[in-house]
Amino acid sequence: MEHPASGPADDIVQPFQIEGPGLRGRLVRLGPAIDTIVKRHDYPPAVAALLAETLAMAAALAAALKYDGMFTLQIKGDGPVPMIVADVASDGAMRGYAEVAGELPPEPEILAAPVPRLVGAGHLAFTVDQGEHTERYQGIVELSGASLTDCVHHYFQQSEQFGAAMRLSAGRNDAGLWRAGAMMLQRLPDHEPIIVREERDEAWRRAVILMNSVTGEELLDRNLAPADLLFRLFHEDGVRIFRQQDLAFGCRCSRARAARILGSLPRAEIETLFVDGEITVTCQFCNTTEAFDPDEIAAMFDA
Ligand SMILES: [Zn+2]
Repeated sequence: MEHPASGPADDIVQPFQIEGPGLRGRLVRLGPAIDTIVKRHDYPPAVAALLAETLAMAAALAAALKYDGMFTLQIKGDGPVPMIVADVASDGAMRGYAEVAGELPPEPEILAAPVPRLVGAGHLAFTVDQGEHTERYQGIVELSGASLTDCVHHYFQQSEQFGAAMRLSAGRNDAGLWRAGAMMLQRLPDHEPIIVREERDEAWRRAVILMNSVTGEELLDRNLAPADLLFRLFHEDGVRIFRQQDLAFGCRCSRARAARILGSLPRAEIETLFVDGEITVTCQFCNTTEAFDPDEIAAMFDA
């Protein structure tokens, strides 16, 4: 049994395997990365919490896939928060944002059912973009349930080859810093049947119960090393802990990209975009603004 010295406890995916029943799992811990992403915007706390949970969920789902490119999770609905997006690149760079387009209901109503009260009726979709000439894998499911956890379980149930369970948590610590965490368990479809099916089903149920015994605080606690938490939960069935993968805030926007977007618009439309003698392009993910003066704009079209 591997039980290596714990690495840093923040901004990581900790993959693990429960040996007896052959279950794969991932623990996601987000600290500074999530605080940076959330605080680039001025979100109401309930929206910030839902975005933070969405990012933790995206990191857990992305880590279950082999890809080289960008994993994107989108939640769309008809409520006051019509869109939440989370990107996880295969190198661990994460970014995300939420759109707030209407007045939010009172906090107690949101807490009772954050997804219906904030996002409303809609769907959850994910894509894997591995660049040009590659297939985009798409998963989509209607939003069903009060919480994001309910919604992702609805997806797992719809997708037969994806026997999985997840736990999510997000919140601010005593210092006011945002944190998020996720734990995900997955049955291995091609696992060698070393034990009979009923025993495997029983082991799966037991593992899910153990996972669900983890409190939100434990998922978020920086001082509880991932390996210690996993060993405490699953030691009876034997838990193997693999090398951690790092996550970090990272946006792909740039001044050159902003210029390309402007350069692709019709000249007549460009003229309508000047405000106070300049055109600004703001990245919806990281809220960075690039400003272009008339000379720079003219150069784009005269080139
Ligand atoms: Zn950006």
